[in-house]
Amino acid sequence: MSVAVNLETVRAQMHHASLLAGRTPEATQLIAVSKTFSAEAVQPLIDAGQRRFGENRVQEAGQKWPALKALYPDIELHLIGHLQSNKAADAVALFDVIQTVDRPSLIGPLAKAMDQQNRHLPCLLQVNIGEEPQKGGCALADVPALLAQAKTAGLAIGGVMAIPPVGLDPAPFFALLHKIGHRHTLAHFSMGMSADYEIAIQTGSTIVRVGSALFGTR
Ligand SMILES: *Cc1c(COP(=O)(O)O)cnc(C)c1O
Repeated sequence: MSVAVNLETVRAQMHHASLLAGRTPEATQLIAVSKTFSAEAVQPLIDAGQRRFGENRVQEAGQKWPALKALYPDIELHLIGHLQSNKAADAVALFDVIQTVDRPSLIGPLAKAMDQQNRHLPCLLQVNIGEEPQKGGCALADVPALLAQAKTAGLAIGGVMAIPPVGLDPAPFFALLHKIGHRHTLAHFSMGMSADYEIAIQTGSTIVRVGSALFGTR
């Protein structure tokens, strides 16, 4: 299957899931996750009109995206992987949305880089929704404090992002993330990947991050 055909399929399924959930299809954005795939692999999606992309590594994205973004200025690049504080400036220069704010020590460097570059990017708070020891994201109990700290630092947190535990029904975790974001009157819920984006849409996702269903297995 070509990636352009895959894109049509994913879009159609997103549309269908939205209607089933009584939601408008425009309420959910598709982020095409292109990690490990080359610029050549991404090009057919750009040609098909896809403009939102996600990468999980600053360095890999830095090799792939500046040339593409120069050609297509309306591309919106989302950081969806762990961000080291010492890469905050690189990330701010390259990305348009940072989905992985997850700890107090990252907030200062990120806010400083945005001030210095005068690029005040929208951010999401990544939540460790399954309370898994090895997983990124802040603990559920830390969400209020992190939101308050980000606000003080001038960081615009517009939503929450999470990856539910592997091998469990994701629906309760999506519902919990939605509840947390809603409690804090946040507008965006980044949840749902190739295996579960339709369920995520039914539980209120506004941003799905889809890789392998578009590009094939990594
Ligand atoms: C890789 C990745 C995705 C996409 O996963 P697929 O299962 O390939 O759709 C989504 N979100 C994050 C944070 C990822 O790292």
